[in-house]
Amino acid sequence: MAKKDFKDYICRPYCTFFKEGHKEEMACRGAQIAEFLVHHKRVNPEKILNFTKDSQIWEKQKARLEKHVCRRCPFKAEDCDFQSSVPPDDTEPCGGFILLVCLMESNMIDESALEILA
Ligand code: SF4
Repeated sequence: MAKKDFKDYICRPYCTFFKEGHKEEMACRGAQIAEFLVHHKRVNPEKILNFTKDSQIWEKQKARLEKHVCRRCPFKAEDCDFQSSVPPDDTEPCGGFILLVCLMESNMIDESALEILA
């Protein structure tokens, strides 16, 4: 399998905030964790490209992700509308959050995987 950049399996397929060619200084915490899981062969990047975005599962898993992922995210304090105290309507989480939630819902990871970088 060719070596994949995390943008190939997190940002391009899932992140509405990703801008092609725009260099980000930091990755969100969700992307950091998903990338770690792939690099350590806990998750196969070939099997995670076709999840459907589903706001119902984002809401269902929001508190769990906040506890393990978002509270340590460099974007949480100022840039993340989704995890703000008053999220605007129809706000999407970042691609890392979306992918981790899809992995949880598909039983490809469990809650302990979210703590892997704690
Ligand atoms: S949803 Fe927001 S706070 Fe949570 S990982 Fe993504 S950018 Fe960071």
